[in-house]
Order: sequence, then C-alpha cells, then structure tokens
Amino acid sequence: MAGPTQRVPLLDINRDNKPHRDEFVEALAAVVDSGRFLFGPDVVELESEIATYCQVDHAVGCASGSDALLLALMALDIQPGDEVIVPSFTFFASVSCITRLGATPVFVDICPDTFNVDPECIADAITPQTRAIIPVHLFGQCAQIDRICQIASEHDIPVIEDAAQAIGAAYHSRPAGSWGLTGCFSFYPTKNLGGMGDGGMLTSGDAAVADRMRLLAGHGMRPRYYHQAVGINSRLDTFQAAVLRIKLRHLSEAIEARAQIASRYMRLLENAGMVGPDQIVLPTEDPAAFHVWNQFGIRVGEQRRDALRTHLAERGIGSEIYYPVPMHRQECFQYLNVDGASLPETERASREILNLPIFPTLTEAEQETVVDAIAAFYRAGAKAAA
Ligand SMILES: *Cc1c(COP(=O)(O)O)cnc(C)c1O
Repeated sequence: MAGPTQRVPLLDINRDNKPHRDEFVEALAAVVDSGRFLFGPDVVELESEIATYCQVDHAVGCASGSDALLLALMALDIQPGDEVIVPSFTFFASVSCITRLGATPVFVDICPDTFNVDPECIADAITPQTRAIIPVHLFGQCAQIDRICQIASEHDIPVIEDAAQAIGAAYHSRPAGSWGLTGCFSFYPTKNLGGMGDGGMLTSGDAAVADRMRLLAGHGMRPRYYHQAVGINSRLDTFQAAVLRIKLRHLSEAIEARAQIASRYMRLLENAGMVGPDQIVLPTEDPAAFHVWNQFGIRVGEQRRDALRTHLAERGIGSEIYYPVPMHRQECFQYLNVDGASLPETERASREILNLPIFPTLTEAEQETVVDAIAAFYRAGAKAAA
C-alpha cells in the first residue's frame, strides 16, 4: 500500500474515510457497548441491505472474499477430479478455492480490451468433468456475464461470480452477483466497499444454496453441537458490518467519484497525446457494462511498462501491476503443467498492464501530476531515440 510520503498515492484510505469518521466511531462504540461482537444486529442488517443492493433474495456474510469463493464451491460439493473453469489473469483467491478442495482449475484466456475472461474460451474449455465456472469481474467491470451464463446453462454448469472487485457493477443493468448461482464479494479495505479489516459476502437467488453456504460457514453445525457437514469457521464480525453499513450508504457517491476520475484520466491522457499503440492504451468500457472503476488499468506498449513505473515512483507517484504473474505461472500451480502459449492474451496483459492511482478523493491536481509525469516519460524517450 502507498506510503504517506508519496506525492500521489496509489490509494489513500484515510483520506476516503475521514469525512465519515464520526459516523464510524459512533457505530463502533455502539458495538462495543452491545457486547455482540459476532452475529450482532448490524450483520443481519448488512446482509439484508446487500441482498437488496444486489437485487438477490439472499446474502450470507463470511470472513473474506476468499472464503466466499471457497464456501460457494463447498456448497456445490466440488471434489477431487472435478474441473472448474477460471481465468488465469486474476487474483490468487479465484483459483486457490478450487485447488483447496482437490479439484482442478482449467485456465482460460481473457479478452484483450477489457482484461475479462473470454466467454468463447470458456465454451471451448468445457468437458464432461466441468463442475463450475468462475468468471471474475476484473477491475470493477463485469465480464460478459450474459453470454457466460448462457453457455453455462446449455451445459447445466453453475456459475460462481467472483465479484470481489465489482460491488455495484452491472451488466445490461443487472447487478454483479445476481447473475450466477452465487456471487462472491470482498470487503478487503482496498475494495470499493472496503471494511476496516477482512470481510466477505455471498449472494444467491437460491434459498437452498444460500442456506447451505450459511451452514458451511458455521462449522456445518445445526443445531448447536450437531454437525451435519464439515464446514469451516467463517464469520463477518459486527464491527466490520457496522462500518460497512455506513460505507454502503455512501457507495453510490464513491462509485460516481471513481467514474469521474476515470473519465478525467482518459481526457487528460488523450489531450497530452499519450494515447496510441506505441504509448498508452486506455481501459475499454464494454457498452453493456456499468463499470465501478476499482482499478484504472492502462496498457503500456513496447515493453516500457517497468521503466514507466520506475519513472513514476521516482516522482513520488504510486502505481501497481495487477497482476504481474498470471496464475498458470505461479510456483504453486506448476504441477498443473499449463502451457503459457495457450493463454497469449493473459501473458501479454501481465507484461503490459499498469494500474494508476484511483480512489474517490483523488484530486484533479493529483491526476494532472500523474499525467504530466507520464508525458515527461514519453518526451524523454522520444528525445533519447532521436
Ligand atoms: C480481493 C479479491 C479476492 C479475495 O478477497 P479477500 O477478501 O481479500 O479474501 C478474490 N478475488 C478477487 C478477484 C479479488 O480481487
């Protein structure tokens, strides 16, 4: 995470939280006084508010987005020998949930414009062993979830949406987390709805699936000390829920601010003459998607990405690479023997992606500093080449 000495931090959670500090302190004090640190009323209320927000009938709190994914697969009784289709260009947790259950991830490539999983690659990867599909709504923009759900339903395969980065996003006006059998959300502090610690949520339109996930999140125990299944201990605590309820009330404004920052970056970078295949490729918005801009990811061509990142760092500007090593290249997944040549867009994205600072209280002046620094990098490069 960005340090306080940076001129333009990648992220400044304190600045985002400051306007709501009194609300947080009041709500947290109420939890202290209630003594109900787990299963408090705020947890029940947050579940119901998230269900409404995501337009689903059921929501189940859990300890993290990673646990949400694991619980979703556990509810499907995923077993060794089962295959689960997932993009390789994602965060680790989209994949570890599969291997933890002894099942096999089947990695598929992404669309070069959105960085999201390519539905046609999913269709090609389906086998008689496929038991689930995990599309990831990367950077705050939904994958082509209508097409993915259509492909899945033709084969009667459940879809688990990894919506960790995409709360509030939608596709054809239908919210992320309401398309699949289950939606998985994270309240990790850097997510658009970030708590003050870990937290997660599962959504589902299916009462039996939601009930099964709730059972598995509580040691499979029902009634008390009688265990129907071997579950895990995965709870959303009341402190997190109290904070998240406040942040949920301000989420639309935060998304609006992110969208404005994204369009301002596009305008500033265009105006600076930075946009082009040899320089920077701007992020693409799918016209069917409502993008919530958890990340602003540009492509930097000609293998100059790392040099640009260093240049920015030298000027006190934060940036990050999401993700430098795709999952099929991770040491822990080498046993899967995946040939990188089968995932060319994933490989290219991991070489070219650069994520610029974006958070709701980022200022216009800070954005100008970022764009000026990028322009200086390319001017210096042009001079060196001349
Ligand atoms: C953050 C994230 C997760 C995991 O969420 P945690 O709450 O940190 O466990 C899963 N998938 C994606 C795509 C994420 O970005």
